[in-house]
This record gives sequence, C-alpha cells and structure tokens, in this order.
Amino acid sequence: MNSQNNLFDSLLPPPDLPDGMFYRQKALVGNEDALYAALSAILAVAPPAQARTRGGGLTSAAITNCGHFGWWSDAKGYRYQARRPDNGKPWPPIPNIFFDTVERVMSDTPWPDFKPDSCLINFYGAGAKMGLHQDRDEKDLSQPILTICLGDDAIFMVGGFSRTDKATSFVVSSGDVLIMGGASRMRFHGIRKVYSGTGSLENLSGRYSLTFRKAF
Ligand code: FE
Repeated sequence: MNSQNNLFDSLLPPPDLPDGMFYRQKALVGNEDALYAALSAILAVAPPAQARTRGGGLTSAAITNCGHFGWWSDAKGYRYQARRPDNGKPWPPIPNIFFDTVERVMSDTPWPDFKPDSCLINFYGAGAKMGLHQDRDEKDLSQPILTICLGDDAIFMVGGFSRTDKATSFVVSSGDVLIMGGASRMRFHGIRKVYSGTGSLENLSGRYSLTFRKAF
C-alpha cells in the first residue's frame, strides 16, 4: 500500500457527523457529465477569476456564480450582488438540472423546499485551498448551504464555531454532496488540499465546488 492510500484511509468520513450536517458520498455519480456540461455553459459566459480580498490579496480559488445573486469579494469586502463585477451584467441563471439536483438531494433532509437564489462556483486548480471560514453573508441563516463536488479529490475540513476549534478532515470526491444547515450552519469549514489529477471527468482538470445558497 502506498503512502497516499494510507493517508486516504485516515481521512475517511466520520461515521457520525454533527447535527445539521449531511455528507452524501457518491450521490451524484452517474450525473457528473450532465452537471459538468451545464457548468461548462456557465463558465463559457462567466469565467471564474480570483477575487481581491479586503486584505489586498487574491482568493486562492477562482470564483464565478450563477443565479439571481453572486457572491463576490473586493477591496471593500464581501457581498452578494445581482451584477457581475467584470461587465455589470446579471449572472447566468441557475440551470434546471442544478435546481432538479438540489431538489432531489434535499428531499430527505429537514429542508425539502430549499430553493437557492445563488450558486457560488469555486474552481480549485493545483495548489488552491480555502481557509477555515463561516458563510455568514446570507440573509436567513436558517437556510442551509448545499455543495456539489466535481473533479479532483480534496480534503474538506469542518470545525466548530470558533476558528480555533479542532477541525475534522475527510476526503471529498467528484459526485459527493455536502449539506450544512441547522445546528451546523455556522460551523467553520474549508478545503485544506486538492489532489490534482485525481478526477476522472473528461475535459476537467481541477476541482469545482457548486455551493447553493439562499442569499436573500
Ligand atoms: Fe463556505
């Protein structure tokens, strides 16, 4: 067994996740090509770009959005906005295949009627990561956030309610779904590492996360 297998063995999903957190491993395997085709149409009109942070740096992941609102960051801070920063146009709409997938995945959770108005799309190329953070820019924090993983494997971290709380890490792969709502909605979370070249989707190198939110 090589060292990567040993590492992966130690990064299996925890048997019991905290209340409000759902991990649906491989839930969308078989649907990934269709999801990626819809995603590619979005990327063609709204290509991801690294966003400027308030501190003056750039986000490690490249960002774009679809939906009525898109999350963006610049020197003034973070916000949802109805218009794209690059050309002032609306973001591309959320395609029906995304809505249908969200509805299906949510049907047996406490939020079967979840209807996102925003999908933040993060692209993780080689070396990209996302530090521990809370998603707190949405108006109604009783609404969950649902993430679909496409492409390369990554190490997802989920911690507590303070940045310094110990975080649990496990590997998420293409076709996996994560939901954080209820008592887990404000848990710190992030992406520690992406394993470049581990994805198996044709024409996709890197990792995309599609994170569905209700911004307003
Ligand atoms: Fe987040």
